[in-house]
Amino acid sequence: MSIYTQEQVNYLVEGKLDWETTMRMLSMPKDGERFRMYVHALQSKLPWDDKIILPISLHLYIAQNKTSKEWVTKCSCGHEFGDYRKNWKLQALIYVRDNAEAMHEVYPALMAPDTNWQVYREYYCPSCGTMHDVEAPTPWYPVMHEFEPDIEAFYNDWVHLPLPEKAS
Ligand SMILES: [Zn+2]
Repeated sequence: MSIYTQEQVNYLVEGKLDWETTMRMLSMPKDGERFRMYVHALQSKLPWDDKIILPISLHLYIAQNKTSKEWVTKCSCGHEFGDYRKNWKLQALIYVRDNAEAMHEVYPALMAPDTNWQVYREYYCPSCGTMHDVEAPTPWYPVMHEFEPDIEAFYNDWVHLPLPEKAS
């Protein structure tokens, strides 16, 4: 049983909780009840009701498509990027800042990185335009796929909740 109420977890999600309470909540051992409330708070703010399996960033989720039961990477707007094991970035709109002019839109003059050595790649949802990620690699570096969560272990060992159904 979690000692935090759904209302407090809602405030945490909305960023409205005072700093001290936030720190206390985040430093608590992870527990299934709190994860369930966290997901519930996120879910209630979304326009779709496919079950959230795992939030992966502010506006990006692994969710269970309620029709196919497949796990997909999904934007908060409802746009699906396909199977959760595939790199969603390859289905995103990509804007590459690889010249001084484009860099100066985000950096003051003289503080921008040298684009011979570093570029910015910005990944946007093709439906709603939300920016989901930014990479700052060397220009020749391949598209990164840094997040491949072990969802089974997360459910079994971490939050001790039953693993949601999944179509293979
Ligand atoms: Zn979107």
